[in-house]
Amino acid sequence: MDVIYMDNNATTKIAPEVLDAMMPYLTDYYGNASSMHNFGGMVGRQIVEAREKVAALINADPGEIIFTSCGTESDSTAVHAAIRSNPSKKHIITTRVEHPAIKNLYEYLAKNGYRVTWVPVDSEGVLDLDFLYDHLSEDTAIVSIMWANNESGVIFPIDEIAEKLASRKIVFHSDAVQAVGKLPVDVKKTGLNMMSISGHKLHAPKGVGALYVKKGTKFSPFMIGGHQERNRRGGTENSASIIGMGKACELVGSHIEEIDTRVRSMRDRLEDGLLKNVPNALLNGKKDARLPNTTNISFEYIEGEAILLMMDQLGICASSGSACTSGSLEPSHVLRAMGVPFTAAHGSIRFSLSTYNTEKEVDFVVENLPPIIERLRNMSPFWKEGACKVQ
Ligand code: PLP
Repeated sequence: MDVIYMDNNATTKIAPEVLDAMMPYLTDYYGNASSMHNFGGMVGRQIVEAREKVAALINADPGEIIFTSCGTESDSTAVHAAIRSNPSKKHIITTRVEHPAIKNLYEYLAKNGYRVTWVPVDSEGVLDLDFLYDHLSEDTAIVSIMWANNESGVIFPIDEIAEKLASRKIVFHSDAVQAVGKLPVDVKKTGLNMMSISGHKLHAPKGVGALYVKKGTKFSPFMIGGHQERNRRGGTENSASIIGMGKACELVGSHIEEIDTRVRSMRDRLEDGLLKNVPNALLNGKKDARLPNTTNISFEYIEGEAILLMMDQLGICASSGSACTSGSLEPSHVLRAMGVPFTAAHGSIRFSLSTYNTEKEVDFVVENLPPIIERLRNMSPFWKEGACKVQ
């Protein structure tokens, strides 16, 4: 099926090179990496290499990488390790715009004995750092701040926050699922304690992730079981996917510059084209502090779901900023935290590009989306009222 895939923050295509690297370990070399025989040992050695490649991408030591099943598991592992290692501390700080992998976990902990401080963002999605620093206390067990927001693409100043936390005995965790592979990330420079990564956001398959745990950080496993991952994550290794993730990290490492230049310029062309050609279109997120591949645009007075369906008929894949909850469309918690008005939040669309996109695809969307918006607006009672229409 021919599609114009602009939904790379949701998931990415498996790079052909990644699939090639994985295939032998899905077919001929199925040994268990922990087995004593050489048939399994061969797989184990490939996992060692994969760990080195993931570590190299973020400038970590290989021993600081734990393979997991996904970004969500990495997040849960980090948070549980922090709170179990500091059982007397009952305070957590995070942001109002985290992915559900963190948000729902902290909402659960808030009902189970923890006090959670939710740091707000402004209308551009920028974090209120003073609010964060003002709420640090002796009781704070963990600060979890995402590196880049999956919806708006806004990047948070992780280096600056890490510097501020360095002198305190507080675990600093970042959900870097959207950042790693799109931005240069150097854990040695940043000095955070734990950082979550997901394979399927960087052209590896679904079902594999990694958690960086800085040497010396107190840790206890979330998945208790066998001795795999040096007793830090029980469960037979998902060897083919881990090997694929290693290859993917090697590849994206060599593409970071291309993402910052070619992908950024395609994103800007798409964004500028849509904002110029569609009246009442608003950008969500601070323009100069975003992931280079992401743009989130609100088309006022229509519903994002309707836009998605009509784009889908043309093979264009993107995401909307509202989700169907209990039969009604609810704007995302991220857009609500940014104070995006209801009429705009409902019609928000996120486009997230990758190195596989082309300028031709961008031009196709810029040409074909404005008439879709116009058709939908002509059907919209809110737009027809005319009170809001910009001539
Ligand atoms: N964190 C962020 C910021 C994400 O965007 C996602 C996925 O969209 C996750 C965590 C969850 O990752 P996974 O799907 O690998 O569990």
